Amino acid sequence: MAGTRFRIATAIAGIVAGALVAFSAALYFSRRISAYQELGVHVISTADRVLGVMRDAQGGGEQLTRIVPTDTSGVAQIRANEVLGRVLDRVPAYFLVLDSQDKLLYSSSLVRLLPPEDQEELQRVAFELRVGQEGAIVPIRYDTLARDRLLLVARRDPGLGPNISRVVAALPASTADLAAQMILGTLLVLAPIVLLASIGVAYLLASQAFSPVDQLINEVEAISDGRSLHRRLPVDASDDELGRVSATLNEMIARLEGSFAALRRFTADASHELKTPLTVLRADVERAMHPGTAQGDRLVALEEALQEVARMSNLVDSLLTLARADEGRFDLHREPVQLEPLIRDVFETAVILGEEAGVSVTLPLVEDGMVLGDRTRLRQLYLNIVTNALKYTSRGGKVEITLSHRNNGEIAVAVRDTGVGISAADLPHIFDRFWRADRARSRRAPEGGGERGGFGLGLSISQWIVTAHGGTLSVQSRLGRGSIFTVLLPLVEPDQAEPLSIS
Ligand code: ADP
Repeated sequence: MAGTRFRIATAIAGIVAGALVAFSAALYFSRRISAYQELGVHVISTADRVLGVMRDAQGGGEQLTRIVPTDTSGVAQIRANEVLGRVLDRVPAYFLVLDSQDKLLYSSSLVRLLPPEDQEELQRVAFELRVGQEGAIVPIRYDTLARDRLLLVARRDPGLGPNISRVVAALPASTADLAAQMILGTLLVLAPIVLLASIGVAYLLASQAFSPVDQLINEVEAISDGRSLHRRLPVDASDDELGRVSATLNEMIARLEGSFAALRRFTADASHELKTPLTVLRADVERAMHPGTAQGDRLVALEEALQEVARMSNLVDSLLTLARADEGRFDLHREPVQLEPLIRDVFETAVILGEEAGVSVTLPLVEDGMVLGDRTRLRQLYLNIVTNALKYTSRGGKVEITLSHRNNGEIAVAVRDTGVGISAADLPHIFDRFWRADRARSRRAPEGGGERGGFGLGLSISQWIVTAHGGTLSVQSRLGRGSIFTVLLPLVEPDQAEPLSIS
């Protein structure tokens, strides 16, 4: 959880850092642009001041320039009069005065203080710079250490006559750069503080947000040790997400508790069921082995032992069937099964068993139908229900089997008996494993037969077989009046009946 908190804090810090960089860059560039705009205004006013000085001198009757003919080219040249230097030397600024032939008439005293290379570069740029053009930048050196850049702007005054084409004034850009750099400096000092503060706040917020999760984890850990499955997590209705997580976990814990309890019950029941035949078996074997036991008694003891072994083997078979069914590992070999012959076969067995038990078995209604199923399992299912009906019906009673179509494409096998019935309180439990309405009653050997009562697993297995075939098993019963067990299975048309194997 600490890792998640740290990840959230660093993610937020990353976002804040990104936003800070973007914000600083925007601020720096906008400040720089406006500083350069202000500087441009100042350069223009400097140039205008120089133009004003020249205009004043001209107004005072001074001739600032003169035309001189040259010998070589024959073209007349413009020259600055000495008065131009005299009036302009008093202006403390960087500027150049150019004539109408784009030649230098005058460079200010500050320009003349610059190193010669810088003066040359300044002139080169100034010659190209026209009035109305955007300012140009020229790097300069005051000395070996101090460097700067000049912003150049050209201005003209037509009133000065045709000889003077323009004044190119300049101002150091360092002032404009400084304004932007100061902002950058301030941001650089503030950024780490803001960043650290945001990481701290993000970590605190994440810790706060995760503290209920931490609590939940601790509680789940305490419950999941296996001995505390009866406990439940507190459900905070005000917290949507965590409330749902707690509710879902509670449902899961409840299911786990149910499964554990069922498992414990199942193991206890299975051990209990095996213990009795094992005790009987041991007694029988000891009796058979005793030197004083007569030969006839020895055989009786061995026969009883054999019965117990058969009984245990049945129990283990049933347990194995249910365990495989639970795991979903049981193969059902599905094939089209004609129900009429199957039910008639079950009926014949039931008649024989019924004769032994003194119960009459009838088959008043048989409508044939085909289902897709595992023939052996279906036989086991119907026999389970029919033998139960015989087992829980006393001598003189009746068992009636019917096979009939139902409206919704299903076929029903109903087994009705006039036996002991099941109380309403017991009905919800009869499909539970090892459940018997009355253990003592079930355990007694049925009258007329040597077989013992069941283990309470028959209906669980029947239920599984019916469900695996996509059907339903229902029961209606009244205590002392008898019961009706109905198995509904989906019918298939003969042409749909493709055999297939399903796990
Ligand atoms: P058993 O092997 O004990 O019959 P089952 O799972 O088949 O186990 O049945 C569970 C319990 O349901 C039985 O012990 C019995 O109490 C009750 N039961 C099942 N079938 C009938 C029936 N036809 N009439 C009355 N009780 C029945």
